[in-house]
Amino acid sequence: MIQPSIANKSVTLHILKTFGIYTSKKLGQNFLIAPEIVDQIVAAAEINPHDDVLEIGPGIGTLTQGLAETGCRVTAVELDRRLIDVLAKTLAGYDNVRVIHGDILKIDISREIAAKKYKVVANLPYYITTPIIMRLLEERWPIDILVTMVQKEVAQRMVAVPGSKDFGALSVAVQYYAEPQIVLNVPPNAFLPPPAVESAVIRCRIRSTPAVQAKKESVFFRVVKAAFAQRRKTLQNALQSAGLTKEQVQYILAAAEIDGIRRGETCSLAEFGRIADAWVDMDGRID
Ligand code: SAM
Repeated sequence: MIQPSIANKSVTLHILKTFGIYTSKKLGQNFLIAPEIVDQIVAAAEINPHDDVLEIGPGIGTLTQGLAETGCRVTAVELDRRLIDVLAKTLAGYDNVRVIHGDILKIDISREIAAKKYKVVANLPYYITTPIIMRLLEERWPIDILVTMVQKEVAQRMVAVPGSKDFGALSVAVQYYAEPQIVLNVPPNAFLPPPAVESAVIRCRIRSTPAVQAKKESVFFRVVKAAFAQRRKTLQNALQSAGLTKEQVQYILAAAEIDGIRRGETCSLAEFGRIADAWVDMDGRID
């Protein structure tokens, strides 16, 4: 290791004190202090020295250091201006790390990483976990693996199967683009300060083609959104709320061979695809 490991409580406290930094709750700053968790995140991303890795929210550089030690090229995007100076010091010994001051929800990442494919590794700020994950999936950033720390209940929703209580629009969206898997659960005391919730590391292998070949992707997601907008409603009623008449919904569900008294949460991705395609077949102009 080029510099002393950051991933422990005393070094983290020392760095924060030296730079006079108080962690910001608003920015979701819970820094990792467990070296074994850093190692497991890096291992889960299956990194080799030729990889390009995007890290979202490097903080004081704890996970960044673990990534840099593999020899890969790391691009790290941090929003908090105060931490840019800290990172310049804590990662000074690594010439394979580039830190960018910016907002991951706004940045044009294609201007920052030229590689054809890269990996995303992060301990995400929990206040914007879903917008970040949805941005990189929907915009189809050229990623093959995403490994990230998230709130445990978000991880459970991402991997949930049809019919389970956690299955919802997030499950469908993530599973449409990727194959998610929970790698490990992480207790609050692995962070400084400890968050109020349990955490989990999730690995998503990004699919080369979506799980469902819908005729119109936008209609697929319209159906999913309507189906979960009011979870207790039957599909027949939920789809009517999406602006269709009773007869149109009956026609679509009959063509898709789906019983209208079912609830959206029981439908597989393929079944949502059949409903969407039946809708497109009925109304070729829909977008
Ligand atoms: N990676 C470090 C670690 O594991 O110890 C820090 C993780 S901390 C949970 C989340 C980090 O994301 C913080 O450093 C925070 O300032 C940063 N952050 C918050 N919102 C951000 C945004 N919109 N864009 C980039 N970074 C952000």
